[in-house]
Amino acid sequence: LYLFYLIDPISQMVSAVTEYQVGSAAVARIVDAERLEVEEPGSSVAPVTGGPAQVAFEGVTFRYRDDLPYVHHGVDFEVPGGGMTAFVGPSGAGKTTVFGLIERFYEATGGRVLVDGRDVRDWPLAELRAAIGYVEQDAPVLAGTLRENLVFAAPDASAEAIREVLVKARLDGLVERLPDGLDTVVGHRGSKLSGGERQRVAIARALLRKPRLLLLDEATSQLDAVNELALRDAVAEAARETTVLVVAHRLSTVTLADRIVVMDAGKVRAVGTHAELVSGDPLYGELAATQFLHAESAVPQAP
Ligand code: ADP
Ligand code: MG
Repeated sequence: LYLFYLIDPISQMVSAVTEYQVGSAAVARIVDAERLEVEEPGSSVAPVTGGPAQVAFEGVTFRYRDDLPYVHHGVDFEVPGGGMTAFVGPSGAGKTTVFGLIERFYEATGGRVLVDGRDVRDWPLAELRAAIGYVEQDAPVLAGTLRENLVFAAPDASAEAIREVLVKARLDGLVERLPDGLDTVVGHRGSKLSGGERQRVAIARALLRKPRLLLLDEATSQLDAVNELALRDAVAEAARETTVLVVAHRLSTVTLADRIVVMDAGKVRAVGTHAELVSGDPLYGELAATQFLHAESAVPQAP
């Protein structure tokens, strides 16, 4: 099991960014949970318990392969349980890699990644993954109905629980508009969802598992004002009950954060609130002035 993750087929799948293959990566994570069941007959992964998780990086260095340059050059930060922490910085700064290390898709080359003060290498992998909800940058919508998209990682979710996460993710209005509500086929051949709606479906899916930590890699594509507001509200709602780390590309998300971690070239260069950083950190000031969008939207999105 251990070696499997050092080799890491998941990242290779994720890097091929077709909707279908990203979907397979999500499914691969469920297969992990089943593996544990095989090793410990009669016991599935224990239900997630405990409150919002704490996260800390201690002098983390990392490179994807021995023959590649370092991506993290000693990353340090500390996030208490609960609330929302935004990661901002130019493209290639190493923000998404932070998430990959927390999930232990990869292992730190040096230093330590801690969740609840415990090195992620000391966590049973299935337990670690069960505690984390990960909403990837290009949130996949799988083939099937909206309901199937929500419950595939939480098959026992009650109707009440589904209703609750739909409200939290600001999807209740969408469900009312869809021809067959939750049973509307979405994805490839079904009703098209906008980028913002896809991210909110992914947030709802993650929240249904009641994660102790929600990792959200915000979509870089331009959202319309309604979708942007809904996404912002969904993130704020999630942060009421779990620890939320968000790689943020929109000033509207960042200004809600309890703390902001500014990354550049594989290092944390500043941590603070929006007000502190606007005047205290030149890079942050520059990013904020351009609404963050220029940082990762060099390639114009097709309309
Ligand atoms: P950000 O999210 O801040 O844009 P990333 O963490 O995605 O930055 O990437 C940081 C650096 O690591 C970049 O130079 C990127 O090209 C490299 N990188 C990201 N993923 C991989 C990977 N799977 N294999 C090799 N290099 C990667
Ligand atoms: Mg990224």
